[in-house]
Amino acid sequence: MQRRSFLRNTGLTLAGLGLLNKETLASFLADPAWKIRMLTDDIGVFSEKGGTIAFLLTKKGIVVVDSQFPDTAPHLIEELKKKSEKPFRYLINTHHHGDHTAGNISFKDIVEHVVAHENSKANQLRVATEQKTAPEKVLAPDITFGADGWKQKMGKETVRTYYFGAGHTNGDSIIHFEHGNIVHLGDLLFNRRHPYVDKGSGASIANWIVLLDKAIATFDKNTQFVCGHAAEGNDVLTKAEDLKAFGDYLGNVLKFTESEIKAGKTKEEIVKATAIPGSPEWKGGGIERPLGAAYTELTSK
Ligand SMILES: [Zn+2]
Ligand SMILES: [Zn+2]
Repeated sequence: MQRRSFLRNTGLTLAGLGLLNKETLASFLADPAWKIRMLTDDIGVFSEKGGTIAFLLTKKGIVVVDSQFPDTAPHLIEELKKKSEKPFRYLINTHHHGDHTAGNISFKDIVEHVVAHENSKANQLRVATEQKTAPEKVLAPDITFGADGWKQKMGKETVRTYYFGAGHTNGDSIIHFEHGNIVHLGDLLFNRRHPYVDKGSGASIANWIVLLDKAIATFDKNTQFVCGHAAEGNDVLTKAEDLKAFGDYLGNVLKFTESEIKAGKTKEEIVKATAIPGSPEWKGGGIERPLGAAYTELTSK
């Protein structure tokens, strides 16, 4: 990661650096590309490449949510070993995409269980077959759950997963650390960044909007939401209002695409748009992805 975008991604500005003491500043500038940020005494996030990772440290062991890539997961593992001597108990995958599960393999032999929604596991294995990934590079979940989710007590913390149907894929779950009141949304929230909508893995923009409303209703005003990806200059740590804003954005994507279809535009013409009316804060590249997915969704009904 470039230093400039790294500074922005970690929410640190040069002005902010002025507030740090010399020692901290020196260690920061000598920093490796990865960043760990504690949100509570025992829950933190790790950022390097790919989807944001969350972790929980307890007397009963360590829980990790998502694993990035085989070249970045070992950085997280080493850092967590410095923080805790307890075993890695659970690795939970929010969904199957490679930037969230390719690093699973780094946890082979050190984590007791890998947990995910049953569709996430099916997608992971299907993609591994399609891409002819060597079996020794894939670590699939050994614990799966369906619509009822999964729950595990870990010391004073309770880890619970929710499944609200198809969104970004058909296998995304939401992980709640109940005591710390921190939620990992995986890729169900792209903060001010055009999302990838994986129609090939059963994504649904229409249900994604419903799902975000369910999430807002399930958690509360004080919940901190960790998301997989944010646009440069935006945080991966978000609030309920950001979920609402993303739901509105998805609604605007469908509305705009529908009106363009009615106006007789082709898919190729529609995806050339430069902005989604009503959601000007979503900038940068990748606009053709949600528009193309919306076209597919609206014309396949
Ligand atoms: Zn992702
Ligand atoms: Zn994804």
